[in-house]
Parts: sequence; structure tokens; C-alpha cells
Amino acid sequence: MAEIAIIGAGIAGLAAAIRIRAQGFDVQVFEKEGSPGGKVMEWRRNGFRFDLGPSLLTQPDRVEELFHLAGEDPPKHFRYQRLDTVCHYFWPDGSTLEVPDDPALFARRVGQLADGGSAEVERYLEEAALLYETAGPLFLERPFPTREALMSSQGQKIGRNPMLLDPFFSMHGRNRRSFSDPRIVQLFDRYATYNGSNPYKAPATLKMIAHLEHAMGAYFPDQGMYSIARELSALALRMGVIINLNSPVEKILTANDGKSVRGIRVGGKELKFDGVVSDVDINTLYLNKMLSVRRPLLGRHQKLSSSALIFYWGVKGHYPSLDLHNILFSQDYQREFDYLFRQKTLYSDPTVYLFISSKRISTDAPEGHENWFAMINAPENLGQDWDQLIKQARENILMKIRTIANIDLAGNVVLEHVENPRTIEARTGSWHGSLYGASSNSRMSAFSRHPNHRRGIENLWFTGGSVHPGGGIPLCLAGASIVSEQIAQYRINQRIK
Ligand SMILES: Cc1cc2nc3c(=O)[nH]c(=O)nc-3n(C[C@H](O)[C@H](O)[C@H](O)COP(=O)(O)OP(=O)(O)OC[C@H]3O[C@@H](n4cnc5c(N)ncnc54)[C@H](O)[C@@H]3O)c2cc1C
Repeated sequence: MAEIAIIGAGIAGLAAAIRIRAQGFDVQVFEKEGSPGGKVMEWRRNGFRFDLGPSLLTQPDRVEELFHLAGEDPPKHFRYQRLDTVCHYFWPDGSTLEVPDDPALFARRVGQLADGGSAEVERYLEEAALLYETAGPLFLERPFPTREALMSSQGQKIGRNPMLLDPFFSMHGRNRRSFSDPRIVQLFDRYATYNGSNPYKAPATLKMIAHLEHAMGAYFPDQGMYSIARELSALALRMGVIINLNSPVEKILTANDGKSVRGIRVGGKELKFDGVVSDVDINTLYLNKMLSVRRPLLGRHQKLSSSALIFYWGVKGHYPSLDLHNILFSQDYQREFDYLFRQKTLYSDPTVYLFISSKRISTDAPEGHENWFAMINAPENLGQDWDQLIKQARENILMKIRTIANIDLAGNVVLEHVENPRTIEARTGSWHGSLYGASSNSRMSAFSRHPNHRRGIENLWFTGGSVHPGGGIPLCLAGASIVSEQIAQYRINQRIK
């Protein structure tokens, strides 16, 4: 049986392993760390459990599909709930908004906060839905940009009317025209950060992200976000995939003048494979010379997405005014993004995201405590003085929580762990610690992401958040599906077993 190597047990690598194994290939995964999951990771200490990376799950059906492929019943291994409250927003002027799952109720609540807001939200969500239905199948579900994609019915529809993508406004520009209240503009601008982009630069096309959360729903796994990686890894093992942990791959071995690959080098040993799928950040792969093939010109100069600084706090007490997901907005959003993307540093009044999984999973914190994940956006790691920035940010975040959420945490933090662009880079191999590969800060970004397969190298494929269709769990899973279809086609063309 032909054998495929997968480099990296991130969510995309695991999903690719399951899909390719389901086609009948022998599959081995090589992961440099001691546990699978990559950015989807957890940390446990003194009775607390923290999800280190993702906290919001959208499109859980993409996870379930992987169990179905193996003929398994997803709820036996992976259960999740749709959230009634999507997010709790706090603004510096003291106003707050609890966003419910139901879009009509959400629109009504916005109407109570801001004159005319109800109709504006309804109209905006309708536009976002149309955009998602038109552009989603083209940009997210198939190889892109390819001749086939551009000639497809969706490609032609958009080709005839590119304005459907709303590409000429920035996300902020569009939102400013769509909402009369600056708080609601800020709320919808925030969706650009879901793939590490700047709403003042990213095209309004990204407004389709709002549709995912508000119409398709926000979810949370019963056993926390890490259970996605844990259960996919267990599924892969049940299917017969071999997962080699603590196995950093040093090199992808090429043959035939770089036109094909013959295997990988791990721990100084050369291992032969019929094909290789890389889930390693694409910049790291080329720039660390894991692959001795020139990088495609297209996309080389794309700017990186943002990174993050996260404090994981074991906190004494219960705080009923907070929910699972909470946002404490900055006063000056534009300035905050200027600091992040132009000045490459942290802003003194950051938007703070608080995620408290113990609100839903009581065992995530000891009795009488909560587990707080306090995150701010951060620039990629360019050698900034992180120790100093982290110290200052800690004070700024605590102050923000005090002034906006009216909670004084002083003396109540009983445990602390910190992740920052430096540690994210070291642990996951993300280039400079950016969370989503290239940002979408330009109109052409969707057209210049690295493809899942390079025409010139016949049996090498790329998956994961830094290549097409992009980052975030749903897109990583979509990318793994594209790669497995490409491999199925390769098998037919090459007539391999
Ligand atoms: C703090 C944070 C918050 C986030 N929030 C969300 C969210 O709420 N919702 C959401 O959908 N997404 C979120 N994301 C993004 C999401 O986590 C990622 O897009 C996704 O997990 C990326 O998966 P991946 O498989 O592409 O890459 P990774 O998870 O980075 O996996 C790559 C794997 O490759 C391994 N590797 C690297 N080099 C080698 C080598 N040489 N040999 C062997 N193995 C190697 C790494 O160790 C790693 O395990 C967040 C990410 C972070 C960090």
C-alpha cells in the first residue's frame, strides 16, 4: 500500500491523516512536540485546566464529518453545544451588550442600544450571508486560484460582478457606512481579527465571518477545545494511522531535480514515502530550508497576521457578570491596530478578550475558582523586548478589567501562565509566532495564499492555517479536505495502489 508522511499533528495535519487513511493509504504523522494538537493545546495545573489556543468553535460539522468518514458515531467521542450567548461586549463608556444566538434577537438588542441599529444589523447579516453563499464555495472549499475555480459557475458569477465581494472598501470602511453607532462598527470590525487581520486594511469581503458566528452559530465542546485535537488524534490511531511524537522532521527529501519528493529526514534518518503532506507553517518550511525548492514568487511579500499575548489566570471567586466569551473594547480601535500592524508593538489601552471555560465546564477550575484566559492581540515576534511588554500589558489588562468590567482581580490571581509570540513561535513552529500565516490585509490576499499543491512537485501537498484557504479550525479542516481530494486524484492519475 502506498505510504504518506504527514509533518505536524496540528488540527489540519490530523484531519489530513484521517482523510487520507480513509482512502486506504498507510499514513504516518511526525510531530515535533510530545502531544498532538499544535496550536490547539491545553495546560493543567493545581486543579485548573486551560485551553491554550482556540476558544471559539464554529462549523463543528466539519469535525463530525471526520468521524463519519471512519464509520464512527461522532457523539460517542465528541460532543458539543450551541451557545445561547455568543459573546458579552463591554465598552469604555460603560455600555454592554450580550449577544444572543438568535440573529433577530441580536438585532433587537442592538436596536435598544443604538437608534436604528436593529434594521442595520438585519441588513448587514443578510449581506454577509449572501457573500458567504457566493464566495464561500469558491474561496474556501476548493483549490484556489486555479483555472478550474475561476471557470466554475461561482468563479464566473463573481467574475461578472466582482462587486459581490465588496473588495473596494476596507472592513472598517464598509462597517462605518453600515452602522450609525461607532460601538456597533467596532463590534463588526472585530471579525477581521478572527484571521489575524486589521479591519482598517482588510477588504470588506471578510464580513462573511460575521455570518459564520451569528447565523451558523458559535459552539463549545463539552470537554473543552483541546478535546477536538485529542479525539481526532485518538480517531486517527483507531484507524491505523501511526503518530510519531517527539519527532521533528529536519528535511523533506526531493528527487528528480525537485520535481517530486522521496521521503523525509527525521533524527538523521532518511525515511522513504510515496508522498508527503506538510502541516508546517509555510514560511518556516521555506525559510528554515526544510524544503530545498524555491518559494513561489506569488505571496512572498504578504504581511503576516497578528499574534497574541495571553495570560492564563487561576482566579479566586466567581464573577457572574462575565460569560464564556467576553470582549472589553479599547477606546481607540484604529490606534490599537496602528500599534499592532505598523508600529509592531502593544497599545496601552488594548481590547481584552476574556474566555472562561469553567463557566461551562465546572471541573476546569477548583471549587470557588474560575480559569481566566485574558488575551490581547500582539504583533508577530520581531525580537521586541517581550519581558518588558508583558509586564506592562499585565498592568494594562488588569486596569481594563477594573475600569470596564468593574472587577478588581488584585490578590485573586492564584496561578499564572503566559504565552506570547515568542513561545507560540517556539512551540508550534509558526513563523514569528503569527497565528494565521499571512494576514488578509490586502485585496489580493485570498489570491496569493500558498496553494495546497504546487504544480511542479508532484507528490508534495501543503495544509494548515498558513496556506489556502487559511487559518482557524474550520478553514484548516476545509484545507485538509482539499488536500485529500488532490491526493485521491493523484492516485488515479499515477495509478498507484
Ligand atoms: C491563542 C490562539 C487563539 C486562537 N483562537 C482561535 C479560535 O478561537 N478559533 C479558531 O478557529 N482558531 C483559533 N486559532 C487559530 C487555530 O488555532 C489555528 O488556525 C489552527 O489550530 C492551526 O492548525 P494547523 O494544523 O494549521 O497548525 P498548527 O496547530 O500550528 O500545527 C502545526 C504542527 O506542526 C508541528 N511542527 C512544526 N514543525 C515541525 C517539524 N519540523 N517536524 C514535525 N512537526 C512540526 C508543530 O509542533 C504543530 O504541532 C487560535 C490560535 C491561537 C494560537
